[in-house]
Amino acid sequence: MTDLDWNDYSIETQAIRAGQTRSHEGEHSMPIYMTSSYVFNSAEEAALRFTGQQPGNIYSRFTNPTVNTFQVRLALMEQGDRCLAFASGMAAIMAIGMSLLKAGDHVVCSRSVFGNTVLTFQNYFAKFGIETSFVELSNLDAWETAIRPNTQFLFVETPSNPLMELVDVRALADIAHNKDCLLVVDNVFCTPIMQKPLTLGADIVVHSATKYLDGQGRCVGGAVIASEEIIEKYIYPYLRTGGATMSAFNAWIFLSGLETLAVRMKAHCDSALELAKWLEQQPAVDKVHYPGLESHAQHELAKQQQSHFGAVVSFELKGGKDQAWKLIDATQMLSITANLGDVKSTITHPASTTHGRLAPEVRLQAGIKESLVRISVGLENVEDIKLDLSRGLNL
Ligand SMILES: *Cc1c(COP(=O)(O)O)cnc(C)c1O
Repeated sequence: MTDLDWNDYSIETQAIRAGQTRSHEGEHSMPIYMTSSYVFNSAEEAALRFTGQQPGNIYSRFTNPTVNTFQVRLALMEQGDRCLAFASGMAAIMAIGMSLLKAGDHVVCSRSVFGNTVLTFQNYFAKFGIETSFVELSNLDAWETAIRPNTQFLFVETPSNPLMELVDVRALADIAHNKDCLLVVDNVFCTPIMQKPLTLGADIVVHSATKYLDGQGRCVGGAVIASEEIIEKYIYPYLRTGGATMSAFNAWIFLSGLETLAVRMKAHCDSALELAKWLEQQPAVDKVHYPGLESHAQHELAKQQQSHFGAVVSFELKGGKDQAWKLIDATQMLSITANLGDVKSTITHPASTTHGRLAPEVRLQAGIKESLVRISVGLENVEDIKLDLSRGLNL
């Protein structure tokens, strides 16, 4: 294959073609390289590979052609220098902490991040003398005030789950850099199709590939994208030693997921916007949280920072928890599960599931009421999704 410079191509094209090198067999689809190790032509070549003086495969804990294709492709799509794949999104987040932090360091994290991310900082890094301050996502002053001389990075998800609040990534990156900190953005909700945090000033992007990158709920995986310097100095040595590697089979699934990511995201977001507008009209609904609505407090920021508004919609019911549970139980098609980013629409009650382990007052402080329902809008016909919801909206 001719060596094209994929930087010159649009993200839709990169997602389909970038990173693949064809073997002598002339295969069209990317092969799955199921091999743990690789053979060298001589003792000298082995030595050169191990010291990194000669590029090439060594051992599939840290070098595998199928995984590498996924890494090259996702790095281009996020406009980062380099990407490393991990066994899961949590393994990728753990890698960032393990490689960048030491005892006595400090992290500032948004209060509204994935539950296991909070537990990673609170239960595990804390054991090794690393403190984390949790702040309100959209309050830039709170971020700035929380930074200490020993703060290494700020960690954020935007938009947040389940209330779809945003933070201005460029402004947060400036705050971080003024105080010599890095900014880490978990880009799971947007994917590079909707938002490229590195182009907004962030230093590290982390993904759970399990969600939209796969898009069909098949595999668990994760990735870290950053500058050559950050990857080479911190993340790569940790992956090589820590071993939370993505399997070649999963990388192959994620590669085919990436090929359809752009069309899927646009379709997900179109349906979500339509559904959010429809929900706003329903008498039983008190409030809809979706950045695509004019009623959303950060609608202007969402238009500026993202190319689309996302595929998660949450809403509050006038009838409280009772009505929320009734609505969920009345659905016949939607999957009652906390997962998201799937072609299948899912429905969940955050206060008793994803956020059920939080103390009630902490949950309320975070704005997650008992009356709140969250939908991850899939790719079924949106009229069928409305029909399924209307069964419980009129009870
Ligand atoms: C799911 C998720 C993660 C964790 O990813 P896994 O692949 O499940 O380990 C991290 N961040 C966000 C925003 C997620 O939705």
